[in-house]
Amino acid sequence: MRVLITGAAGFLGSHLTDRVLADGHHVVGVDSFLTGDARNLAHLAHEPRFELLERDVSAGLACHGPLDAVLHLASPASPVDYYEHPIATLDVGSAGTRHALALAHAHGARFLLASTSEVYGDPHVHPQPESYWGHVSSVGPRSCYDEAKRFAEAMTMAFHRSLGVDTRIARIFNTYGPRMRPRDGRVVSNFIVQALRGEPLTLYGDGAQTRSFCYVSDEVEGLYRLLLRDRAEDSPLPTNIGNPDEFTVRELAELVQALVAPITGARPGVEVRPLPQDDPRQRRPDIARARATLGWAPTVPLREGLARTIAHFAERLGEDASAASR
Ligand code: NAD
Ligand code: UDP
Repeated sequence: MRVLITGAAGFLGSHLTDRVLADGHHVVGVDSFLTGDARNLAHLAHEPRFELLERDVSAGLACHGPLDAVLHLASPASPVDYYEHPIATLDVGSAGTRHALALAHAHGARFLLASTSEVYGDPHVHPQPESYWGHVSSVGPRSCYDEAKRFAEAMTMAFHRSLGVDTRIARIFNTYGPRMRPRDGRVVSNFIVQALRGEPLTLYGDGAQTRSFCYVSDEVEGLYRLLLRDRAEDSPLPTNIGNPDEFTVRELAELVQALVAPITGARPGVEVRPLPQDDPRQRRPDIARARATLGWAPTVPLREGLARTIAHFAERLGEDASAASR
């Protein structure tokens, strides 16, 4: 296969690139580096089956040669990033998705959209099955992301229904692991970086809100299986890809404190900050569809995934510190 991946320099896009290459396929990565990092792809500098195009997908998307699949991951994903780039986020979810779909259509390629659990908003149904329509503010601070992704899903279904494109929609739940940007503002990277630096962990609100954290290798495996699944009547329908183990944010903080203490020799404290507006109170995927159609379920428990992520960040912060002192 020759696969085009938008957002290839990002956290998930770079891991997915590695997964596709590992299976012997070719990858054309596309990224504007809005929130990406060239270091995520540095190990592919001499990989003949990989090429990188520096492009803003919202401005248009073209690719020479055949394409078998287009995977659209480009979008700011952390709340801090999309608060900073609300218009670019709406653009890449709307115009960017349309350009990526048009490219897939022109090449007769399969299309996969990286959607999100945010389409469920602050959910009134728990856990969230794909059939739940969500509870989303169209004007709140998160709306630039949530509504862009809801539009992207609608556009994907329109290309499928009216033009027959073979489409897939993954609703990705909170994913973490190596290659997250140390200061991307998401809770796992924040807590780990703060703990490693001996700073207090910034707990928003009372910490009773819940999330379900999926380790990146599990997430990528689910996305890849969704891409490869044979076309079927139900294959264009959204599929939740996430870990159904639910934790409060306070429990996450305690786990990070416990795992980092033996490394730094001190248990970091906690600093309570206000809960951001419209922060969802609870989130957990119902993954019955992914289990049944993809034979997929996560395998990496939170404690183990956090330990691997902490080791990565410890190494990266050490590299950054020695580069700064040079
Ligand atoms: P990320 O910020 O690490 O990666 C996004 C990448 O997209 C970056 O490399 C960025 O430079 C690129 N990009 C942004 N706008 C672009 C544009 N207009 N043109 C070209 N490139 C552009 O984020 P991530 O965590 O890897 O997320 C990847 C995708 O998965 C996103 O679509 C996100 O919405 C979705 N997702 C991620 C999570 C998660 O927990 N990581 C959860 C739900 C959904
Ligand atoms: N959060 C926190 N401290 C931080 C960053 C986030 O307590 O430093 C909380 C945030 O309010 C939310 C949860 O952790 O309840 C997950 O936040 P994140 O930004 O990772 O992703 P979200 O699921 O909100 O998109």
